[in-house]
Amino acid sequence: MILYVEGQDDKEEELNANLPSLVQEQEVKKQKLDAKQSFTQPPPRYTEASLVKALEEKGIGRPSTYSPTITTILERRYIEKIQKQLSPTELGRIVNNLLIENFSDIINVEFTAKMENEFDQIAEGNENWKHTIRTFYTPFEKVVEKVEKELEHVELVEEVSDVPCEKCGKMMVIKYGKYGKFLACPGYPECKNAKPLVETIEVPCPKCGAKVQIRKTKKKRNYYICENNPKSCDYISWNKPKPGEKWEEPEEKPELEETKKKTKTKRKTTAKKKTSVKGRKK
Ligand SMILES: [Zn+2]
Ligand SMILES: [Zn+2]
Repeated sequence: MILYVEGQDDKEEELNANLPSLVQEQEVKKQKLDAKQSFTQPPPRYTEASLVKALEEKGIGRPSTYSPTITTILERRYIEKIQKQLSPTELGRIVNNLLIENFSDIINVEFTAKMENEFDQIAEGNENWKHTIRTFYTPFEKVVEKVEKELEHVELVEEVSDVPCEKCGKMMVIKYGKYGKFLACPGYPECKNAKPLVETIEVPCPKCGAKVQIRKTKKKRNYYICENNPKSCDYISWNKPKPGEKWEEPEEKPELEETKKKTKTKRKTTAKKKTSVKGRKK
């Protein structure tokens, strides 16, 4: 699906921009001065709503297919939603380019709209479905066969993390799952190690200076927690720590079942308690 169509220069505008024929010494009067600076702006990214509108206008899909289409390309990580805007991922760009290069006959707006039209004709009994499908499928099958052979050489470069696999020592790679990013061992299937990807922020822990991780509650709300929590630090906050922030115990802390329990047990040991008090600078 080509979602971004490049615009063409307006030919008419170009012709009108030509200078009128003038003779030497001819006095030219100023008619109108319009000071205007214009920048070429890229078209805004589609939101779900504007994409549905564009699909409607171009005659692609049917109201019942709009939502599943967007869900599918989101789930397959071809696009991601950034503050309501739909943005292509690296994978999405690669797949899109491969499709356009190899299936230009069918990966285009006109074909899709034409096909929808033919389906309507079949539904209304004006067209024989076997004939329609055969006309499409016979050449399509050949292209698929050809491309499948060529595609064996295409390899998606996996993003390597800085986390070594604790089972086999290989550097783990970042994969995309149903619930977002996670770390997987590249030694698969020999090593099946996989674990959640822990994202850390630049700003150090306001209590102990260690790294602060971004995590999500079950309700998908972000919170910030020191990597030493619950070992030697109990920093945890809803708000992202600011650089040089002076730590004050907040009234409302994220209530997390596991962390709460663990913190309680740890606090019983004197050694840990000391570090925690020191960290608070009292
Ligand atoms: Zn491993
Ligand atoms: Zn800390």
